[in-house]
Amino acid sequence: MQLHALAIFLATAANVMAATNEPCIGSGGRAGVCLSTSSCSSAGGITIDGACSADPAGIKCCSKASCANGSAGNCRWQSDCGGTSVSGLCPGPAQMKCCSSAATGFGGYSAPAIPGVGACKAVAVNGAKALVAAWPGRVRQIYCTRDCACPGTSDHCCGKAIDFMCSDGGGVPTMSGRQLAEWAMNNRGTLNLKYVIWGQRIWSPSVDAVKAWTSWRTMEDRGDVTQNHWDHVHVSFN
Ligand SMILES: [Zn+2]
Repeated sequence: MQLHALAIFLATAANVMAATNEPCIGSGGRAGVCLSTSSCSSAGGITIDGACSADPAGIKCCSKASCANGSAGNCRWQSDCGGTSVSGLCPGPAQMKCCSSAATGFGGYSAPAIPGVGACKAVAVNGAKALVAAWPGRVRQIYCTRDCACPGTSDHCCGKAIDFMCSDGGGVPTMSGRQLAEWAMNNRGTLNLKYVIWGQRIWSPSVDAVKAWTSWRTMEDRGDVTQNHWDHVHVSFN
């Protein structure tokens, strides 16, 4: 490896760490959280390797199969619990709670308002309508434009990007966006998709083959749940 290539590699590797306390897919496909192995085991969870693969040593995906909430419960992100949630019984941050329900429990939101065509361009409005129709109850709120000049640093500046908020509030993580993001990939032609981001991973039809979200390109750690796209799916349109 050439020296400058090595330097670029090291700089990139240093930037792709996932943030501790953010979601991951744990043992048996369960909802998990990236934690130190010691924090996980002290809360009764188990870790698996490779599911927080960009993380520093000792940070692994932690999940806990069962917890006590009435007759039975399981640990998951509060936004993904269709039943009641009890605090203090699960590994990770406060929003990982013991859910009473065995149902998957995603969503259940009223249909979000979709902007008219104008500052938000037709391609984005049409894409928003199509995704919301395909996933009823799963999108709580939609954002299109942002207060910035076009062209700008974001496709939102030009009204050609949609944020599909899919958890209970800003900054609240969920596992729910993965299916929506993969749906956008699978419907790239109809949507005139430029790229889609979910859970600190990005997929673009111009450079990527169709594949599961777990194999999408990893993005740098931008610092929090919203910036790392753990509470919304970002879709950019051509
Ligand atoms: Zn966005």
